[in-house]
Amino acid sequence: KENSHVIQVYCKKIVNEGKAAGTIIVHRDITKEFEVDQMKSEFVSTVSHELRTPLASVLGFTELLLHKELKPERKTKYLNTIYSEAKRLSALINDFLDIQRMESGKQSYEKKYIDIRPIWETVIENQQVQTLIHQIHLSVDTEQTRILGDKEKIQQIFTNVLSNAMKYSPKGGNIYIHLYENEHSLIIDVKDEGLGIPKESIPHLFEKFYRIDNTDHRQIGGTGLGLSIVAEIVKIHDGTITVDSQIGEGSTFTLTFPKINIKKEDKQFAPDKD
Ligand code: ADP
Repeated sequence: KENSHVIQVYCKKIVNEGKAAGTIIVHRDITKEFEVDQMKSEFVSTVSHELRTPLASVLGFTELLLHKELKPERKTKYLNTIYSEAKRLSALINDFLDIQRMESGKQSYEKKYIDIRPIWETVIENQQVQTLIHQIHLSVDTEQTRILGDKEKIQQIFTNVLSNAMKYSPKGGNIYIHLYENEHSLIIDVKDEGLGIPKESIPHLFEKFYRIDNTDHRQIGGTGLGLSIVAEIVKIHDGTITVDSQIGEGSTFTLTFPKINIKKEDKQFAPDKD
């Protein structure tokens, strides 16, 4: 239950010259250990479940291809399914490994001055197959688009947020990515015209494995890990992530990163050339 604690109690009777002299009772609050254990087993069962589904379809379709006489169009269809399921498997494994690395503190970050504008352009290009389905608009209203960050990890944040915007919005929908600034931060809005997020779900969105439990959202595959990875990387970069959403109208995810003062760039971080 919420706010309840798990207490471990040790009792020891003290006997002195055959007579009961007292009892020692030690109470230990093991809530944290208990929660970690529970999370671990939940993690293992989710991982196995999530991996089993795409794997079953890879195996099933491969078997069909091996043992059945099929028309060429069918073959191509099955091969495409195998390919996309194998890609999903690979993405899942990467997510699991990322979470595991972050939680064990083994994730290392290589921070440099990086320009996020070309990173966004790459991320949009990499989603090309899907971008044919959605209209993605990038607008930049700031001259300074550099931050101090780990390029690969920042790219991962953008990829996760953009792929969610695509996943949870209808075909043909617009996605607006807007880069701007205020006094202290470089700000990025990623706005979609999708399903939207219920108010009560917003505080939980960045929790591990959290997925919105309604039919529209459930129908779309996912692990509930993407945004927890995003939140972790944002935190390491002293940034923030917030969400504003209207059911049926769409969502805007807003990321902020501390603005860097070009003149005061720390010499130890070489400027990124690309
Ligand atoms: P998942 O793998 O389920 O997509 P995420 O951690 O990326 O996991 O997201 C958690 C949940 O937040 C998703 O299951 C989805 O219900 C909701 N969500 C995330 N992004 C959006 C969005 N742009 N529009 C609507 N719902 C979203």
